[in-house]
Amino acid sequence: MSESPAQPDKPEGEPIPSILHSFYEERPFQSCTRCGESLIHFAEGFRISKNFKKGEVLMEYALCLPCLDAMLDEASEESKQRLAEFHEERYRDVSGFEECALCDRTRDQVRGEEFSLAGVCQGDRMHDSALVCIDCMEAMAETMSEETRRTWDKFREENFPGVPSDFEPFPSNPAPLSI
Ligand SMILES: [Zn+2]
Ligand SMILES: [Zn+2]
Repeated sequence: MSESPAQPDKPEGEPIPSILHSFYEERPFQSCTRCGESLIHFAEGFRISKNFKKGEVLMEYALCLPCLDAMLDEASEESKQRLAEFHEERYRDVSGFEECALCDRTRDQVRGEEFSLAGVCQGDRMHDSALVCIDCMEAMAETMSEETRRTWDKFREENFPGVPSDFEPFPSNPAPLSI
């Protein structure tokens, strides 16, 4: 994985692709799903996550980096450790939305056409991107402690009341998805 520092003055990366725009608002994400602040103001950037199933958007959110960090911080030490190990074992150093970042499935091979897309963004640019298939999302959720899962459950319930309870959002993901 490449951990490049944030570089606010240089326009890098690519324009945020429309697949990572807000489906519900029909435009690019404007504000953080958790704190409501305007995303453009975060020099540190933000992360967009969208979960798809059979072509439908199940859930989408954008988190400014401070909120993302706060969410990750609430994870127990044990969960953080286990997630880091999980990533070390699995992360394949691939970006983009054509194959899973954590196993060798391509987007077409993903079970039930269910996967999550994430983009690490800053302003209107995307610096990194990843697809994670449902099998890897489930495996990742299993590495998290009950307590950590509750943090994300709460976030989901507050923001996405219609989403089924067995559904795990793109969890704390230190490797490809942090700047
Ligand atoms: Zn925020
Ligand atoms: Zn996978």
